Amino acid sequence: MTVSASTRVLTLLGDPVSHSASPEILNAAFAEAGVDGVYVAVRCGADDLVGFMRGLARAGGGGNITLPHKEKAASLVDVRSDSVRRTGACNTFWGDENGRVHGDNTDVDGFRRALNIFLEGSPKGIRVLLLGAGGAARAALLGLLDEGVGEVLLYNRTQERARAVARRIGGPTVRVVPVLRELEGEDFDLVVNATRLGLEPGDPSPLDFEKLHRAGAAMDLVYGREATSFVRAAEAAGIRSTDGLEMLVQQAAASFERWWGRPPSVDAMRAAIEERARV
Ligand code: NDP
Repeated sequence: MTVSASTRVLTLLGDPVSHSASPEILNAAFAEAGVDGVYVAVRCGADDLVGFMRGLARAGGGGNITLPHKEKAASLVDVRSDSVRRTGACNTFWGDENGRVHGDNTDVDGFRRALNIFLEGSPKGIRVLLLGAGGAARAALLGLLDEGVGEVLLYNRTQERARAVARRIGGPTVRVVPVLRELEGEDFDLVVNATRLGLEPGDPSPLDFEKLHRAGAAMDLVYGREATSFVRAAEAAGIRSTDGLEMLVQQAAASFERWWGRPPSVDAMRAAIEERARV
């Protein structure tokens, strides 16, 4: 693709951003679709966020927001999607012809799509254990509820945070578990890890699967070059598992749709991840 004066600029705004796979994934999708856009990562402090977002959106561009700015971004956009309102987090923005900045949280759609692919069918009615209470857990909880799961048990190291998430997003089907011990002997169709454990090579698994009576499947939102500690623990216990790479691709695909009004080639995005892993 040739970059010209009419090329749309889409950016990843966050701090840090140097580890991100999004530029490779999204530029591969842009090239495959033949759209006139370029995607770059910009390290950005909290004070600069509003300037970047407004300036880029008004210039016809947009982008993604990552740690630690997703909540702040939700408060800055003019038009909030349902996912932004319900999670209080925004990871995708773009402008309209009236100069307004739109925000969405495509982590929710990305999680839902990855979940359906992983389970090879609908998660309706299933019993889920969700670990974590940060931004990723909020997106996952909203996604699980919108998919119509039967019950969600929510556990987080800091109990008050889990209660706050349950208050904001939950309902009668969400129950906070105060201590891990209470999960002993429990039976789940699915366990989701939305903590950040597994991001660092020496991290332990957030859960000892042997303590549960049964876990049908295990889905990690964390991803890395090697198998995550959660995926390794699930595999050792003979439980079908996946890491967060498919969700990463799917949330990027949903962002592409917001910017360009049509779906990208998900295969081109997956190929970009494989290429990155080889380098
Ligand atoms: P946050 O910082 O918002 O939340 C971190 C979570 O991890 C909290 O629940 C925190 O618990 C928990 N945690 C941190 N350290 C520990 C520990 N030592 N033991 C137990 N729990 C711990 O991060 P996010 O929610 O934004 O991200 C979480 C993970 O999800 C990251 O690895 C991120 O890369 C991944 N992610 C993946 C996406 C994808 O597309 N695949 C999309 C978004 C995120 P506490 O409240 O007690 O501190």
